[in-house]
Amino acid sequence: MRLSQMLWVTLREVPADAELPSHQLLVRAGYIRRIANGIYTYLPLMWRVLQKIGQIVREEMNRSGAQECLLPQLQPAELWQESGRWDTYTKAEGIMFYLTDRSGRDMGLGPTHEEVITAVARDMIRSYRQLPLHLYQMQTKFRDEIRPRFGLMRGREFIMKDGYSFHSSEESLQETYRIMDQCYSNILRRCGLEFRAVEADSGAIGGSGSQEFMILAEAGEDQVLYTADGKYAANSEKAISYPSEPIESSFRELAKVATPNTTTIEDLCSLLAIDPTQVVKQIIYQAVLDNGKTLLIIISIRGDQIVNEVKLHNEVVKIAPAYGGKTILSLKVADSEMVQQWQVKPLPIGYIAPNLADDFIDRQSHIIPQFLRLADRTVESLQNFVTGSNEVGFHLTGANWGKDFSLPQVVDIRLAQAGDRAVHDPSQVIKSARGIEVGHIFQLGTKYSQAMGATFTNEKGEETPLIMGCYGLGVSRLAQAAVEQSHDQNGIIWHVAIAPYSVIIAVPNVGNPDQMRIAEDLYEKLQNAQIDVLLDDRDERAGVKFKDADLVGIPYRIVTGKSIAQGEVEIYTRKTGKTENVPIDRVVEWLTTTIGAALCL
Ligand code: ATP
Ligand code: MG
Repeated sequence: MRLSQMLWVTLREVPADAELPSHQLLVRAGYIRRIANGIYTYLPLMWRVLQKIGQIVREEMNRSGAQECLLPQLQPAELWQESGRWDTYTKAEGIMFYLTDRSGRDMGLGPTHEEVITAVARDMIRSYRQLPLHLYQMQTKFRDEIRPRFGLMRGREFIMKDGYSFHSSEESLQETYRIMDQCYSNILRRCGLEFRAVEADSGAIGGSGSQEFMILAEAGEDQVLYTADGKYAANSEKAISYPSEPIESSFRELAKVATPNTTTIEDLCSLLAIDPTQVVKQIIYQAVLDNGKTLLIIISIRGDQIVNEVKLHNEVVKIAPAYGGKTILSLKVADSEMVQQWQVKPLPIGYIAPNLADDFIDRQSHIIPQFLRLADRTVESLQNFVTGSNEVGFHLTGANWGKDFSLPQVVDIRLAQAGDRAVHDPSQVIKSARGIEVGHIFQLGTKYSQAMGATFTNEKGEETPLIMGCYGLGVSRLAQAAVEQSHDQNGIIWHVAIAPYSVIIAVPNVGNPDQMRIAEDLYEKLQNAQIDVLLDDRDERAGVKFKDADLVGIPYRIVTGKSIAQGEVEIYTRKTGKTENVPIDRVVEWLTTTIGAALCL
């Protein structure tokens, strides 16, 4: 491609709405343009990057035995009603864009494709002889994200590779899952990325396992917890660890002590000269179930610990059937405004004890009149602890479960943190890093096949639901994550495997016929050698051309400058910043070898 003919506009200014360097660089270097919130145009340079990533994904997916197809983006509501997700996706979470067609039928724009693929499988798979089967596609997904941001990282329209596998046995699912683990690692390695596979939350539906693939970068939205021995890595949403040992309490018997103005753990601990590990704190959460009922939850957790809301969500979903619900629509810490809606008398905020009476709850038909009481494991073995007294200005010291309070249902809802000890080997300390989730592989089990009646006949002639796995990879997010991981103050530094062009030929002076002739000749030869090459034939100063080439991040830059008098050109490597003089007749060979080596990761 000749730069003089390309639709290509760079910006000197940093776009106002772009916080992340990768977002700023993609806009400034002319890769993407914002059309609306979370909606971007992939300009020619970006489209080449996406196609290169797509090609690597296809090669690895095909090699793993999966088959590519293309599913509809416009999906009938009936399928989502069958799986039970229409209401949650359109109303509760509201993540699905939906519309009514001219004959009054509800349709949704695909945020994901479990329903469609399960309908296809229900239609076409009859017997265990057709299994296992793995179909995948690469296409645009639509999600009305609550907070679209960071450019392509969290768009409302984005490109995803999603695959779905079908099995007659759990073992077969496990095998494909292992193959996909390897396949995703191959893809990310070939894209030149530094990544980590981590244990992930599979939600309340359980499933036997799920793993996320994280690109390591400071700006990542996710927190990865891992150990230095390489044996443990998990998303902090899911991670387990041993908390520090509590410091033994010196209180010997139950007493009520005046603790004015100590509504925070910090103030309480400094007043009583105690450690937060000696305190049982209570936090009230408010959940709305899918049957419209509001459930109030009192959590008891050790004073130094933080509630992991993903784990809490999963526990509450498990308990929901006891209240006539199937799932929960929302779960939040009850703030003062929410509390106003249901308290009949003022709650002793900051002084709540595990046994706060149910008569604080107003009798309204949609509110469940008893608190659900849950205790995190960290409080189970505490003795002579400090906790609230249900009276403002006073705490209890020297309290014990069994004697002073009955121990609520014990669950694991604490957030694991850096500095904790690892469960597989307590001598290992948990460390933390930031990551960008680009892929998620998931053992779904029979959730969708059961709900939608997708069955097959097994070897014994019985009709049983298909066992499923699903595997997502955010192609457009991956492209930006690569930039987030690899850039400098001058611009993007692409790995050659996913760069829009491998080489740029910069002609310092287009008015110089020798410079132009050599550049044109190399341009021709490189194209013939299947090397993606850009020719900067614009009538611009050399300095401008070099700056632009750095900003766009092309891995190798050929300069047909003064050295042509000696029969050589300069080749500059963007990543290392090194320049080498190469004889003109050896340029194709030099680049073929160098690029070939870089691609053999
Ligand atoms: P997240 O937790 O980041 O919202 P998710 O769990 O909703 O992601 P999946 O449904 O597992 O994501 O989708 C598979 C992949 O698609 C993700 O790993 C991510 O790379 C990508 N992805 C998801 N949502 C977006 C989005 N809004 N914009 C760009 N890529 C996305
Ligand atoms: Mg996820």
